[in-house]
Amino acid sequence: MAARPAPYLDELNPAQRQAVETLDGPVLMLAGAGTGKTKALTARIVHLLNTGRARPNEILAVTFTNKAAREMKMRVGRMLGETVEGMPWLGTFHSICVKLLRRHAELVGLKSNFTILDTDDQLRLLKQLVQAAGIDDKRWPARQLASLIDGWKNRAITPDRVPTADASAYNHQAPKLYAEYQQRLKDLNAADFGDLLLHVVTIFQTHPDILQNYQRWFRYILVDEYQDTNVAQYLWLRLLAGGHRNICCVGDDDQSIYGWRGAEVGNILRFEKDFEGAHVVRLEQNYRSTPHILAAASGVIAGNKGRLGKTLWTEAEEGEKVRLIGHWDGEEEARWIGDEIEAMQSGSRGLRPMSLDDMAILVRASHQMRAFEDRFLTIGLPYKVIGGPRFYERMEIRDAMAYFRLVVSPSDDLAFERIVNTPKRGLGDKAQQTIQTVARANGVSLVDGAALAVEQGLIKGKGAKELGKLIVDLARWGRMTGDAGTSHMDLAEIVLDESGYTEMWQNDKTPEAPGRLENLKELVKALENFENLQGFLEHVSLVMDNETDDGGAKVSIMTLHAAKGLEFPAVFLPGWEDGLFPSQRSMDESGVKGLEEERRLAYVGITRAEEVCTISFAANRRVFGQWQSSLPSRFIDELPAEHVEVLTPPGLYGGGYGAAGMGGGVASGIEARVAEANVYNSPGWKRMQARVADRPVSQPRESKGSVIDITAASAFEMGERVFHQKFGYGVIIGIEGDKLEVAFEKAGTKKVVARFLVGADD
Ligand code: ATP
Ligand code: MG
Repeated sequence: MAARPAPYLDELNPAQRQAVETLDGPVLMLAGAGTGKTKALTARIVHLLNTGRARPNEILAVTFTNKAAREMKMRVGRMLGETVEGMPWLGTFHSICVKLLRRHAELVGLKSNFTILDTDDQLRLLKQLVQAAGIDDKRWPARQLASLIDGWKNRAITPDRVPTADASAYNHQAPKLYAEYQQRLKDLNAADFGDLLLHVVTIFQTHPDILQNYQRWFRYILVDEYQDTNVAQYLWLRLLAGGHRNICCVGDDDQSIYGWRGAEVGNILRFEKDFEGAHVVRLEQNYRSTPHILAAASGVIAGNKGRLGKTLWTEAEEGEKVRLIGHWDGEEEARWIGDEIEAMQSGSRGLRPMSLDDMAILVRASHQMRAFEDRFLTIGLPYKVIGGPRFYERMEIRDAMAYFRLVVSPSDDLAFERIVNTPKRGLGDKAQQTIQTVARANGVSLVDGAALAVEQGLIKGKGAKELGKLIVDLARWGRMTGDAGTSHMDLAEIVLDESGYTEMWQNDKTPEAPGRLENLKELVKALENFENLQGFLEHVSLVMDNETDDGGAKVSIMTLHAAKGLEFPAVFLPGWEDGLFPSQRSMDESGVKGLEEERRLAYVGITRAEEVCTISFAANRRVFGQWQSSLPSRFIDELPAEHVEVLTPPGLYGGGYGAAGMGGGVASGIEARVAEANVYNSPGWKRMQARVADRPVSQPRESKGSVIDITAASAFEMGERVFHQKFGYGVIIGIEGDKLEVAFEKAGTKKVVARFLVGADD
């Protein structure tokens, strides 16, 4: 059959074309970011169809996210026009495995209509098993068991094959409980997420006839983002491709960022061993980014050892250098980025005007999103959060807010329902039903109904005791809202601590728990911008109301992990500080493994940018009302100076470009780590430093190690010039306890809390 014309081939360079036209046998496309791997993979699907080599359902293509699968489907459809009937099997490992497992469920003891458990269900089930085994789940949290089991499933380890090294885990009970859990899932006709792959691998391994059928059926296999496959996925691929070996994998070892979830970058390195005679294609031309951006990214990733190493070049015009800017604190960083986005929209930065859709903010940790979301809501800048809930929609934030709502208005029944048994207070469905009934019968709120139910002895035992305590606590916290000595930030912390909510997450051993605790800290931080709890709660209800998608252009906010494979004309990378990025955990580890993964994340971040890449950091972040100063990220040291332009930060809280200098934290940090040929030797940085020396805008005092406490009024003197976020500059004319009387230049004389002031020594 004669091939139809192939305009899609004309869009490719010779190396890509080779990868697309080498249809038989194993092909590995190993290349850096933006070299057109995904583009070539898509063209390969089209080519298979266009040349009549394969019918749509004989092609199996695996992507990393459902979003990527949708995009690939769209592109294939566009390239082919109306010429082909049906579509290839195109999806994530999980979505493809669900389909396969439904067909053969009975072989692993399930029915084809099995249900898929989410993580909550999974945990509930494990807790039951843990309790039934008489294990104290305070000491041995079920979540710990859950992550062990997930880890085994990622490595395709069934209960009978748990390695001896792991046998002592979870008080020596893990292998036994794993087996019981799998049995229980079967009884329930259910599978958890990890099972989807594990079961299919098991079926392939134990039923050669079935495997052979699929090997004949899926004649061509394609895999994107191969560097992030885990062992189970790798086995699955190797089994399926075992006959014909028509497998094409594309990836970049420098972009392997899911090691923490069991991905093995080794899979890409051993491809040539497993598939002997593999055709390896290297792509070196980058079509995405300007030379400055590319050079900056290459400079950073060069710090990793044991890379395959690759050269990247581009024909793009030189463009902008990577822009680097330091800020006094995180709020200022958010403010500056908001202003900058608006300026870039109108093209007033000497750059081409850009749509909001062209811009993205990529953060290391999801709690960083809060400052941006709040700021953008304040200035009415449309944004969307990709790959996760918005800050105020997260479970722990909603829980905490429910407590705050109850403190402010005890009759908030929805809030009460949400938290009455969170953390666990031994109040099951029956007890909660009793509370509802009593409240309704007496025409009172749930809190009052609960009090009556306890009084009348309708709820008994541990539940009654704990519920009684909650009711008394709520009333006490409510009274504290009027207490002048307790700020609403303090109160929020007290509520989260005394209710046991914070502790619940502290005892939680899942990988998500530290993130949730960070989010709670971030929530308390957000309170500082408001006069009281009530004002804050109103703000949040407005945030939640602002949900509707009008289809207009929006800035994207997402984590670096979620940004994999994507590209944007302008990218902001905030929070480049040691401890945040690289994360504290990766810095604390003894080996370099974690740090290298962080560095790959930095590489992924920079290489998302097409034209403008802006990296920023803050010298200080407020954590529970205390300033914590931090050093610029070590990855900033690794940016090659000739590709970086250091922007002068705006004056403290306001002012335009080049108005003032930096806080002391950064300046001292710089001295500690000046190295040859890094940005700290660049003229821009020197200019910034000179300004710091000229005009110390504010100096944190009373240094206690790295934590600087400036909350005490005793840190200030009569007659001293100070700055307040809301009221501006002024002079101290009175000191009473932790309150200061300040004559503000614009706002007149006011009493303010010391923690809101910083010195302004100019
Ligand atoms: P990543 O590693 O980030 O996933 P990638 O290697 O998959 O990157 P693609 O996303 O496929 O790269 O391509 C990057 C950009 O370059 C896209 O905008 C794509 O359209 C463009 N591109 C790729 N190949 C070519 C080419 N031969 N000519 C013109 N543009 C190209
Ligand atoms: Mg790609």
